[in-house]
Amino acid sequence: MELLVKNGFIYDPLNGIDGQKMDIAVRDGRIVEKVNERKAKKVDASGMVVMPGGVDIHTHIAGSEVNTGRLLRPEDHFKDVESKTLITRSGVGHSIPSTFTTGYRYARMGYTTIMNPSMPPLEAKHTHEELNDTPMLDKGTYPLLGDWWFVLEYLASGDINECARHIAWLMDATKGYAIKIVNPGGVEAWGFGHNVTSIDDQVPNFCITPRDIIRGLCQVNKLLNLPHTIHVHTNNLGKPGNYVTALETMKCVEDLAAGTKPIIHITHCQFSAFKGDDWRTLESGAEPIAGYVNNHSHVTLDMGQVIFGDTTTMTADGPFQYGLYGLTGHKWVNHDVETETSAGIVPFRYRRKSYVHAVQWSIGLELALLIRDSWKIFMTTDHPNAGPFTAYPRIIAWLMSKEARDATMKRLNRRAQSKSLLPSIDRELSLFEIATVTRAGQAKALGLRNKGHLGVGADADIAVYNVNPETTDSSSRYREIRKAFRRAAFTIKDGRIVVKDGVVLKQVDGKTIWVDVQVERPKDISGDLKKRFKEYWTVEYENYPVDDDCLRASQPITAQASV
Ligand SMILES: [Zn+2]
Repeated sequence: MELLVKNGFIYDPLNGIDGQKMDIAVRDGRIVEKVNERKAKKVDASGMVVMPGGVDIHTHIAGSEVNTGRLLRPEDHFKDVESKTLITRSGVGHSIPSTFTTGYRYARMGYTTIMNPSMPPLEAKHTHEELNDTPMLDKGTYPLLGDWWFVLEYLASGDINECARHIAWLMDATKGYAIKIVNPGGVEAWGFGHNVTSIDDQVPNFCITPRDIIRGLCQVNKLLNLPHTIHVHTNNLGKPGNYVTALETMKCVEDLAAGTKPIIHITHCQFSAFKGDDWRTLESGAEPIAGYVNNHSHVTLDMGQVIFGDTTTMTADGPFQYGLYGLTGHKWVNHDVETETSAGIVPFRYRRKSYVHAVQWSIGLELALLIRDSWKIFMTTDHPNAGPFTAYPRIIAWLMSKEARDATMKRLNRRAQSKSLLPSIDRELSLFEIATVTRAGQAKALGLRNKGHLGVGADADIAVYNVNPETTDSSSRYREIRKAFRRAAFTIKDGRIVVKDGVVLKQVDGKTIWVDVQVERPKDISGDLKKRFKEYWTVEYENYPVDDDCLRASQPITAQASV
């Protein structure tokens, strides 16, 4: 089980390697100092780019909302069909592909690790079953906790320690990876047909505000020593003028930061960076957000880049999805998950000629280019909300080439063109920065020590792309960049070659990564919690937790809590 990736140009930002020609040695699924050159299987990466396997910090690929989206949209299946091969299974779906197809499509682009960002704890079993069925990738999933009744009650009474112990239990019960917060307070209010409009609104029935929830869970995250920060979908998402809310959300935990370690992740920030009073006066709020992020180190973001074309929106933000239904008049689903969270699904088409959609397209790229430090903003489409993940190679081209941005810009709504900041931005990301925003930065933000780099001891997840950085000017030959990232020359998962020239050669199962929190005084689940289960849920306590054997390949990461 020895492998040698020879002669590639290595881009490994976590180890400071920027395009040097080196060999990467692999033994038993790990990267090692060296292997027996005569005996090892060799991958010739001459003239090619070698990076760690791609890491996606936020992509909706599994669970009840994704599956409901599949049911809602047969038309999404008809137009995008994959036949079976001798190795792979058949599948369907453009914006909400079936599980196997999802795994293959990521692997073809050199991705090896993904995070599924919104799991209602009640539906954790379903989510894990689908993740089990998604091959080629290691994965994790974030339970939705910002509107969970226990959390609201503990935080309203100021009992941060008890809240932390409860969440330690819940991470184990759901096999979760990080604390996800969606429209805090607003999702709970939605259960009664309401929403919140600022981080200081009162949440009905709970004597608490979104600010209290964000701050409380940020403190809980610290106490539990979780590998990732709190992962926040802001209040007022998708509404004109909401960049103010995004700034307030980042500011509201500023005093909890210590040193330069991030403590909050604002996800799909494009949707939270709108200036203006209504859709007619909508403008980009990327500048003030980038200005803030450039001057603070407690925040990371991901883009949520818009891709023109047809997709399916799905979030736990029930009131937002209701608003989107109102705007589009499209078929839709809206759902309330008992005492935990809500959800909504609406099909959507982003149009080049729409002023609003073109402004949104510009905002995502403006954020990524105006934020100077690429360790602070990561490439996502919030798949499938702003577009399917299969569009990542197009985003890479836009980030690396002003000419690529100009070419798309020419085809957009005229008024949006005149408002866009992009013509004034000359920055083009290097391959080192691309490796940062697509893997190294994401792995670092997630606290995944063995991912996102090619140092000794790392998981042997490696992507090789057929583009020569010495002879290819990415600025003018962006089409070649796009092509190379669309079909990896090689994808290596745990030391095995699984993709060659964009074709899946081998189907492998990934691992499910979750956080096993060690608390000094474990939650006593025999008393209060068990009793209240009967009041809060339709499911018995005994049937609620996801047992370790529900996971095909369980990989817990231990966190030592200080409660
Ligand atoms: Zn999302």
